[in-house]
Amino acid sequence: MDIKSLIRDIPDFPKPGILFRDITTLLRNREGLRYTVDTLAQKFQDSSIEVDYVAAMESRGFIFGPVLAYQLQAGFIPIRKPGKLPAAVYAVEYELEYGTDQLEVHQDAFEPESRVLIVDDVIATGGTAAASAKLVEEAGSFLVGFGFIIELRDLGGRQKLPNVPVVSLVEY
Ligand code: AMP
Repeated sequence: MDIKSLIRDIPDFPKPGILFRDITTLLRNREGLRYTVDTLAQKFQDSSIEVDYVAAMESRGFIFGPVLAYQLQAGFIPIRKPGKLPAAVYAVEYELEYGTDQLEVHQDAFEPESRVLIVDDVIATGGTAAASAKLVEEAGSFLVGFGFIIELRDLGGRQKLPNVPVVSLVEY
């Protein structure tokens, strides 16, 4: 199936100069949604990567994280924006184009030494995924891979990530 044909391009969103890859048109397509989730899950099953937890970042990571965790028979761990999680957290700050942002995860979210896969819809500069990887490592877990629906190759995000398997289904 051609997933790319189901992804809509919106120029100048959220600001001028950005070509936004809109996955809502993929999500609403019943065959497209199933194929996307099944293909991503299959890639990790084929490479025999054992996964205890899928961790995904707010907000669009939450669309694919739980369904992928379900498929891989893993648990799901939310990585959230500051101040959203109720119990004690680890926090990591990361650079944005202008300024910094922060992500948090519950300190007791992962079992010690568990194997964690990080999932998001898009990898652009890689800043968000690299920050999430730091949280997983700070929590004492093993990062076993990354899964993305879309990879924006020219932005070189992959180079920012730790040396584990990186799977993306569609490249621009
Ligand atoms: P980055 O930290 O630069 O890799 O950005 C990753 C986050 O920004 C992802 O969670 C995406 O949801 C979002 N994002 C960045 N660029 C785009 C784009 N061109 N189209 C859609 N989403 C994007």
